[in-house]
Amino acid sequence: MNNENPWIRALLQLTQTSEKLGLDKLLFSMLSEQDRTIEVSLPIQMENGSIKVFRGFRVQHNNIQGPYKGGLRYHPKVDMDEVKALAFWMTMKNAVVGVPFGGAKGGITLDPKSLSEIELEKLTRLFTKKLLDVIGPYKDVPAPDMNTNSKIMGWIVDEFRIQNSEFRITKGEMLAVVTGKPLEMGGSEGRVAATGFGGAQVLISMLKKLGKSPKGLTVAIMGFGNVGRFVAHFLQKEGFKIVGLCDSRGGIYVPSGIEDTEEINRCKEEKGFLSGCYCVGSVCDFKNKKKLGGRDIKPEDILELPVDILVPAALENVITSDNADKIKAKIILELANGPTTLEGDKILNKKGVIVIPDILANSGGVATSYFEWYQNLRDEHWTKEEVLKKLKEKMEIATKEVYSTSLEYKTTLREAAYILALKRIEKSWRNQNFSSKNSK
Ligand code: NAD
Repeated sequence: MNNENPWIRALLQLTQTSEKLGLDKLLFSMLSEQDRTIEVSLPIQMENGSIKVFRGFRVQHNNIQGPYKGGLRYHPKVDMDEVKALAFWMTMKNAVVGVPFGGAKGGITLDPKSLSEIELEKLTRLFTKKLLDVIGPYKDVPAPDMNTNSKIMGWIVDEFRIQNSEFRITKGEMLAVVTGKPLEMGGSEGRVAATGFGGAQVLISMLKKLGKSPKGLTVAIMGFGNVGRFVAHFLQKEGFKIVGLCDSRGGIYVPSGIEDTEEINRCKEEKGFLSGCYCVGSVCDFKNKKKLGGRDIKPEDILELPVDILVPAALENVITSDNADKIKAKIILELANGPTTLEGDKILNKKGVIVIPDILANSGGVATSYFEWYQNLRDEHWTKEEVLKKLKEKMEIATKEVYSTSLEYKTTLREAAYILALKRIEKSWRNQNFSSKNSK
């Protein structure tokens, strides 16, 4: 693992692409900064009576394209620079996939599995109160990210409702304060599966462009949470062979292919849930692996398996100068945010590995969040089939546009995705009459 500062990487990515594109200097300066950073202290009484103080962050990077939008992450490694980078990537991602949102991100530094459900709820409600003035359906719309889920989003909606009870606000506006909610609280059909489903669609569309068939291509996936689990399911349905899976506790490698990835999910769930929120099982609890000729591996070993496609779907900074040379996959589908460091990326490019960048690959989540927000504000409810059909179309269009930009600018898919995003942001910015003439 490598501790590259993700915000420094984000700035470099912005600088390099802006130079290539000739981006307006004033706009470049605006995108190099955050519109607003918020850091709050969150003291809560724990169940044992003691008071513990947590730190919460929200970064609103830029809203040229629309209200700020981005997830909330509960993780011990959350800090301001990580949140700044993730917010910047959201601005870029929303522009790539073509949803009318700007970029934001937030989180609380904590190990969520060490808190009870009551403590988590208290903390989430307090965080919501502290963000009350800056979030809202037309201001900033949070969503789930690592270690946050629909239950947690439900607590945010409820706290927002309580705190706004004296104001005139429609039911739809109340619900549209966050996305990724439970279905019974205005969540969208298909949202839980969206990032994994969207990632699978991007991969399939990109393979078509490259003239390759998915049938029998082998896949290893790092992370078996919300994203990893669904991408495994949808890729398997399309004929890919899933041979490696891991989560934070361990991994499995089954060269002949895991017959049913849903069985692993059931097996994780059988172990029960902690605090009613987090699964305590692991992919390594999968009993059938030996029967299939498989074996246990360490989580980080998943990256170096002899596979056609590698899918990092857990943390950032996992593909680095230390291991990029040992990666055998020919295609990397980045479903985690920022899984590849700058040095790691250079090595992969030199080796000719095709990297489908995070800001395209995992944009299915925010695209469906947009559908959820849209349905809330118009009091509509779309079926799962409708949602997935619209999502598939969106992912195919975004993939086609990134691919054709890479041909036009003779560049990697990552740089092409940034070029596409920056062009769109620049166009909106000019349309908003912020003339840049004087900045040159
Ligand atoms: P999650 O909390 O549901 O799952 C994370 C998974 O990663 C778990 O299986 C966990 O055990 C595993 N993991 C953690 N540390 C690991 C390690 N060191 N080695 C191997 N596995 C490890 O989170 P998620 O929602 O699936 O998000 C995963 C990634 O996808 C994050 O980078 C997130 O920012 C990104 N993402 C998520 C969404 C979404 O809709 N949830 C959308 C876009 C991007």
